[in-house]
Amino acid sequence: MARYRGPACKRCRREGEKLYLKGERCAGPKCGVERRQYAPGEHGQSRQKLSTYGKQLREKQKAKAIYGLLEAQFRRYFHMAERFRGMTGTILLQLLERRLDNLIYRLGFAPSRRAARQLVSHGHVRVNGRKVDIPSYLVRPGEEISLTDDMKTNPIVAAGLAAAEKREKLSWLACSPETLSGRMLNVPTREEIPLLLNEQMIVELYSK
Ligand code: SF4
Repeated sequence: MARYRGPACKRCRREGEKLYLKGERCAGPKCGVERRQYAPGEHGQSRQKLSTYGKQLREKQKAKAIYGLLEAQFRRYFHMAERFRGMTGTILLQLLERRLDNLIYRLGFAPSRRAARQLVSHGHVRVNGRKVDIPSYLVRPGEEISLTDDMKTNPIVAAGLAAAEKREKLSWLACSPETLSGRMLNVPTREEIPLLLNEQMIVELYSK
């Protein structure tokens, strides 16, 4: 599946906030948002007042950047969310959170979703003991996610575990760093998803 391959920091600068797309670098002084506190491009330094549409668009672009998705994939998740009963915006986020690459990141086995995606697509991840190399695989509550034994000495995984130590633990995840395994205990509620995002605006944008 295609993915965005351009500069990650530009996406944060465009949104004017840290989206934590690069792992270790995001916490350091080299962070693009810290170094250049204006949007990229020729008119990046001129102030622009956003219309309602503009705000909705930015929320959608932010969500796409955070989860590393392109428009077609993201829209597919939205249409999937629409088919469920309940708040479409919340269901959209729940679907995105259930992605295997996201859970590898949330469990702390990779310093960023990008790195997590690579671990999955390079075949280092098992779900219930079976190799799954599809980053978009939707994990069900209770399924065991684990990394292969050779990943125990991998520096990317070590960096992920070190970064996760500094983050707040999520109650809907059970993680065992020693065995590099974990589970999603339940699908998180909106309150349990640590994301500053107005998903309702995304729903409004796509419902026009
Ligand atoms: Fe965003 Fe991380 Fe780059 Fe900072 S270092 S701008 S948080 S991707």
